[in-house]
Amino acid sequence: MPRYLVTGGAGYVGSHIVLALVGRGAEVVVLDDLSQGHRAAVPADVALIEASLSNRAQVAAAFAGAPFDAVLHFAARSLVGESMANPLPHIGANLGNALILAEEAIRAGCLRFVLSSTANLFGEPERIPIDEDCSIAPGSPYGESKLMIERALDWAHRIHGLRFAALRYFNAAGADPEGRLGEDHTPETHLIPLAIDAVLGLRPPLTVFGDDYPTPDGTCIRDYVHVTDLADAHLRVLDRLGEVPRLTYNIGSGSGHSVKAVLDSVARVAGRPVPHAVGPRRGGDPAVLVAASDRLRRDTGWAPRFGDLDAMVQTAFAWRQAHPRGYAG
Ligand code: UDP
Repeated sequence: MPRYLVTGGAGYVGSHIVLALVGRGAEVVVLDDLSQGHRAAVPADVALIEASLSNRAQVAAAFAGAPFDAVLHFAARSLVGESMANPLPHIGANLGNALILAEEAIRAGCLRFVLSSTANLFGEPERIPIDEDCSIAPGSPYGESKLMIERALDWAHRIHGLRFAALRYFNAAGADPEGRLGEDHTPETHLIPLAIDAVLGLRPPLTVFGDDYPTPDGTCIRDYVHVTDLADAHLRVLDRLGEVPRLTYNIGSGSGHSVKAVLDSVARVAGRPVPHAVGPRRGGDPAVLVAASDRLRRDTGWAPRFGDLDAMVQTAFAWRQAHPRGYAG
């Protein structure tokens, strides 16, 4: 039975990957400091090590038991706004923690590493859709921290033979279609959960951040990819890592949806309009981000099952309706 260490496995994306790994018959150990993750998001039969990656002794202890086949690294600070306010601590924490993790993995002989990376690496992209060969110019200290980690892992690949995959997600969205997991961030900054909460009356009306962008309806266009599709991509990439030692993939559904289109979708799913008002732009938002995931599709046969926006929103809506207080409920 393969055995995996998943950092941040109690968080939104990480927990969905844990579920997929367990579903494939793997043994999973989650390492999470629960600063953003939720104990309730970790299945009862999965071991949870409550520890910080900044604590090297605790990370080393995680590797002291039976060997892991791979590490999947999700634990990180991920708020672009926070990174713009506190760039150096943000970069320091993300990079430092990843380096401790990679070092201890290599020391323990675990030479497979999957990194949760980001579309933010491309900043204002030079072309749409964004393929892996587009120029890299991070749009924030958050994106910069992920780029630094990718580059450090590349040296670990060359020098220590670490096999690694960098997966650059576009906008992760939705929830486990069977209703076992959902999205519960504090603070919540993402469009789909905020729109769902606005329509359910759980939060104030949504503010649309600008409607004067050079797009057909003036609002920003993003590529939303369902977390369960992301999870499927991770399983396929883990397999592929056995054949090819160094992988980079952009992961999105390949279609762009404007903020207004997302609000229309939430309204269709909820059966009533989303209360909202148009406000000023949010700093640092590129007008359009859409992924070209052809490389992932070609190499692994991956294809999104929840590419349809309404289907994606439906899963998020169902979870939130059943859990209006998130995991605390
Ligand atoms: N957005 C918005 N109002 C909100 C939150 C987000 O208009 O309250 C917009 C945001 O400007 C972006 C899109 O929705 O164009 C997706 O934002 P999100 O924060 O979900 O993801 P990001 O693209 O920043 O990773």
